[in-house]
Amino acid sequence: RAARPGTNRPSDPESLWTGAAVDPADMGDDLEKVLLTQEQLHGRLDEIAAQVDADYADKDLLLVGVLKGAVMVMADLARRLHSPVAMDWMAVSSYGSGTKSSGVVRILKDLDTDLTGKHVLIVEDIIDSGLTLSWLVSNLRSRGPASVEIATMLRKPDAAKVEVDVRYVGFDIPSEFVVGYGLDYAERYRNLPFVGTLAPHVYTS
Ligand code: 5GP
Repeated sequence: RAARPGTNRPSDPESLWTGAAVDPADMGDDLEKVLLTQEQLHGRLDEIAAQVDADYADKDLLLVGVLKGAVMVMADLARRLHSPVAMDWMAVSSYGSGTKSSGVVRILKDLDTDLTGKHVLIVEDIIDSGLTLSWLVSNLRSRGPASVEIATMLRKPDAAKVEVDVRYVGFDIPSEFVVGYGLDYAERYRNLPFVGTLAPHVYTS
């Protein structure tokens, strides 16, 4: 009898994709160092998901991801939650000089969801200056939600300067430019399952 589609999978679903993902060893000399391994990221997400589950028990939760960097953390956090949450996406661009954002933000893609009475959890990849995020929080708060909280996978020290109350933080990291786990350099490296820094020659070539 012919196997039904999908029945020839390995019994451990993790092995499906951890085996296919970029390994630090595959990156030649582009990678300077691994800051956080996939195991560390997933382990922390297990803890955060448990907290979110407890905090939002009996509440209708809407996860709001900020494109494009939050795609990985959104997917990995959402699939760990034990209640059927809603998910929506925003794309914003912040104007700034060079690599620093100014806090002046334009919406490139707005939410499809009416926030009235909703419990909103913004899911972020990284908070650096926090300026984009503080704009986003006040923008979403003006739409009449029941609550707006923030979860971020990574946070840099500068974030402390801005008055944004971040409820869930994956890891505090140094002020270095990192890639992987959703974060890019020139649109590349978002698919790395770990977080790392790039060797200087990558930025000059
Ligand atoms: P801020 O918090 O300064 O307003 O901006 C945060 C945004 O800047 C993040 O969503 C991300 O797109 C970008 N960003 C900040 N730090 C890094 C980093 O180390 N690596 C990458 N790839 N993007 C970063």
